[in-house]
Amino acid sequence: MKKIQMVDLQGQYDSIKDQINNSLQEIMNTSAFINGPEVQNFQKELEEYLGVKHVIPCANGTDALQIAMMGLGLKPGDEVITADFTFAATVEVIALLQLTPVLVDVDPETFNIDPEAIKKAITPKTKAIVPVHLFGQTADMNAIMEIAKAHDLYVIEDNAQAIGADFHSKEAKTYKTGTIGHVGSTSFFPSKNLGCYGDGGAIFTNDDDLAHTLRGVVNHGMYERYHHDVVGVNSRLDSFQAAVLRAKLPKLDIYNEARKAAAFRYNMALKDQEHIKTPVRSGDCDTHVFHQYTLKITNGKRDALVKHLNENNIPCGVYYPIPLHNQKAYKDARYNEADFPVTNQLVKEVISLPMHTELDTDQIDHITKTIIEFVNN
Ligand SMILES: *Cc1c(COP(=O)(O)O)cnc(C)c1O
Repeated sequence: MKKIQMVDLQGQYDSIKDQINNSLQEIMNTSAFINGPEVQNFQKELEEYLGVKHVIPCANGTDALQIAMMGLGLKPGDEVITADFTFAATVEVIALLQLTPVLVDVDPETFNIDPEAIKKAITPKTKAIVPVHLFGQTADMNAIMEIAKAHDLYVIEDNAQAIGADFHSKEAKTYKTGTIGHVGSTSFFPSKNLGCYGDGGAIFTNDDDLAHTLRGVVNHGMYERYHHDVVGVNSRLDSFQAAVLRAKLPKLDIYNEARKAAAFRYNMALKDQEHIKTPVRSGDCDTHVFHQYTLKITNGKRDALVKHLNENNIPCGVYYPIPLHNQKAYKDARYNEADFPVTNQLVKEVISLPMHTELDTDQIDHITKTIIEFVNN
């Protein structure tokens, strides 16, 4: 059996090696390092793939979130509601812009932001909701868009973990995640479902005016050369990364199918185990592209299982071990432990298994067998 890795990018590279190597060589031949044709073409190809009017490439997924919030004109003191159970980038940029993060609890089955908790957190100062499509599964966007409409709030989708997932709206329209709200963001960090070979990110929107604003914000607030109309940032996707992404984008659906197939095999082996809860799908309104395959271990043996798997050369991860409301940087007297029963429980129970496009059935079967033996002992 091949050595099991949490993320394995080698197989993908092998299958697109010539294209990537040739494109990188061409960039060096032409010195089009910044904003060259690779970046322009990638932008157009991603717009087409997502069915969205505007893609604005930028330097990483954290910048993408920050720039989205800057483009919407959010002001210090505005409250932004997001999930307590996610990667810190989301809350980080809210705080960095001196907006007020308002963390709320998540759904125990899907791990995504709980619409009822959003409703309870809305105040006259609330300006935006940031749902994160966690682990590759769409948040409850039907409910979230309805709440946003009723309260006149912006919806900024953090799509760093779910690029390529479909969402079917109540009106029977199909959208790619990240294009449902007012603006969406993603990350092309190497381990994401569409990853480059360094850092990269992008912002999506169907709003022409917002897109115009965002294109200025990413480029020093410049709309006309050396005229700085707003305070901006410097956040660029470089040509090398765009070239890698152009080679991978046509395969994104195939990559996501490989993830789903691995998840299906994990599910079949683990779904009837008494102390294990396999990932729950949120009904028929979405697809799950399994950025992570995350189990809940319900008999208190999660930490022991992590240790056991590591000792047996099976990598695994705990995403995320600490609720954001308990992180030193984001503690706030407004929060009450009783408001976060689900996140407080999830951080003790979740474990993510190896998930990538190169897992083979022998590896998956070895992983599930090792888990079942340990958890039942
Ligand atoms: C990875 C990730 C980000 C940040 O992306 P970077 O490109 O690493 O800045 C933001 N939000 C979520 C949910 C992520 O998983």
